[in-house]
Amino acid sequence: MKIITPEKHIYAFSEKMEPVVEVDPEEIIMFETMDALGNQIESEDTLITSLDFSRVNPATGPVFVKGAGPGDTLKVKILDVELPEKGVIITGKDMGVLGDELESYKVKILKIKNKEVFFNNVRIPISPMIGVIGVAPEKGSFSTGTAHKHGGNMDTKEIGEGAIIYLPVFQEGALLAIGDVHAVMGDGEVCVSACEIRSKVLVRVEVTKSRRLEWPIVETRDGYYIVVSLPNVEEALKVATREAVLLLKEKLNLSFEEAYMLASLSVDIRISQLVDPNKTAKVFIPRSILNTIV
Ligand code: CA
Repeated sequence: MKIITPEKHIYAFSEKMEPVVEVDPEEIIMFETMDALGNQIESEDTLITSLDFSRVNPATGPVFVKGAGPGDTLKVKILDVELPEKGVIITGKDMGVLGDELESYKVKILKIKNKEVFFNNVRIPISPMIGVIGVAPEKGSFSTGTAHKHGGNMDTKEIGEGAIIYLPVFQEGALLAIGDVHAVMGDGEVCVSACEIRSKVLVRVEVTKSRRLEWPIVETRDGYYIVVSLPNVEEALKVATREAVLLLKEKLNLSFEEAYMLASLSVDIRISQLVDPNKTAKVFIPRSILNTIV
């Protein structure tokens, strides 16, 4: 097993990144991650205005996966997400969906015990998930705070224990990095943050040669989510819908019109997050309709 410690991190997924370690396909890797705020908040007295925003969204890595090259698909199975006993959530002026209605900022430390997050008198079962997971993009550079075809800050709550993430590979070695774990998050991530937390993420990587992906796909026990992140949420929803229709057309050998109808009968269109520079839509195709995507 390879362990990657959190001081080995990036703030941008770029076409040319220097890997910190090389792994073989099938090898197990542990990514030790900082929280999305770069571990800068230790107490509720921390002033948001005092944070160094150049240190937010660190992603641990990148990892060079031997045998992965442009046109391949990197398959990342999330084996385990280990959490400590506290996380943090922040919000404030100009943050999130209702940020224009706030004048001040707020920090809350959230205790975690017996697999529950304590929020005042409310207890929320944890559902650990990875906010940032991605590879080197085809061209240029994307901040780890944004998401696109290479993955990145998708903030998609289905990216948790047991899930498999399929990422299109654009560069030799794929160059995988992971960060921004949440103990729990609702779809939308409306106040701009979730239960932000450090973690130890255990994954196994494989390289698949069979099918070129346009956008990341998340496989869960129940089915598949195609994850599309674009500046405009309506455009993201439309592109995600088209991706689902094209996948059904190809896999089930249907006409476009029939695949479109089948999508209308069985595919769910959802939103992962509305608060990052690119908004993330996801389309869910149940396993009863499609039992493989590769
Ligand atoms: Ca995030």
